[in-house]
Amino acid sequence: MSVRTVEPGSTLGIVGGGQLGRMIALAAARYGLKVHVFAPDADSPAFDVAARATRGAYDDAEALARFAGSVDVVTYEFENIPAETAAILASGAPLHPNAAALATTQDRLAEKTFVNGLGIPTAPFRPVDSGDDLDRALAAIGRPAVLKTRRFGYDGKGQRMIGREGAVDRSSIMAEFGGAPLILEGFVPFEREVSVVAARGADGSFAAFDLCENEHRDHILAVTRVPASGVAPETAASAVEIARRIAEALDYVGVLAVELFLVRENGTERVVVNEIAPRVHNSGHWTIEGALTSQFDQHVRAVCGWPLGDASRTGGMAVEMHNLIGDEAGGWAEILARPGAHLHLYGKGEARPGRKMGHVTRLIP
Ligand code: AMP
Repeated sequence: MSVRTVEPGSTLGIVGGGQLGRMIALAAARYGLKVHVFAPDADSPAFDVAARATRGAYDDAEALARFAGSVDVVTYEFENIPAETAAILASGAPLHPNAAALATTQDRLAEKTFVNGLGIPTAPFRPVDSGDDLDRALAAIGRPAVLKTRRFGYDGKGQRMIGREGAVDRSSIMAEFGGAPLILEGFVPFEREVSVVAARGADGSFAAFDLCENEHRDHILAVTRVPASGVAPETAASAVEIARRIAEALDYVGVLAVELFLVRENGTERVVVNEIAPRVHNSGHWTIEGALTSQFDQHVRAVCGWPLGDASRTGGMAVEMHNLIGDEAGGWAEILARPGAHLHLYGKGEARPGRKMGHVTRLIP
């Protein structure tokens, strides 16, 4: 696919107004681009840093078409963009990453089927649309297992463990999900969770950041450490190769993240894909200071058809990124006083529990 190069001074459209959109907009501004953000909420964090903001619903065809007509290239900061919305955007301006990447990654069943189709391992899985399906899936996969909604899950929402022991009340479990299409996944006994954040350019070039190790609390990313500790270089290389093959197969342009489980069995290490995020990712925030090109710079370069930057770590240093969740952001003054702490606040009003309010990055010489 050929991608028209977008010149500095052009307008980048971003669909979605959260912190990811905000940080893409900041990177775009530094490259002399204008940014137009489309998001439904009046208090979207990305609106504060964009030249233009349109407040509109993701199913408002007219507003979307006007928005797409006003930009030179369009990207997005979240994957739950309906296919019809993606089609409207793509008819007004080049859409990167493409609509097929969205369709594949916004449905866990399509995503895992696609990944397995490339010969890349995931947890075993079965679609579940009824109580009978659930029985059959449990019989095929065994327990423990994780039942998830196929779409719209994030930060552990829309999922439920089914433990090794105990009765399974299938009708109450099915009722809990309110008829949403589901997927049952075998539980992966992982040692740690890692991710690859990488970019594919319009010319097919590929650049991956070093493997990230991610620690979650209450299903929300709490800390990312780079490089991932205790991972053999060959394992890290195989994770990067998986991301490259996924990006290639999707004819992907932009930054993507591949979340993986690291499994250790009988002394051997392997990685299993959990999820693909077709966008910049929380586990890549450390790259703003910790890499020679940040994930946001890299994404802007890719979607504009520009050369990718150097993804190596700054001075080869190790990096640690802590999310500021809920009222943790109230400690901003104390964080500012810490030598070497890079504070990022997203400008969100209310510090609700579980809400990502900012992050802090530290480079470790
Ligand atoms: P997800 O929304 O799929 O990223 O899942 C959120 C978190 O739940 C993951 O980061 C894991 O900690 C855990 N998890 C999800 N699926 C599985 C699985 N199949 N096996 C083990 N843990 C899982």
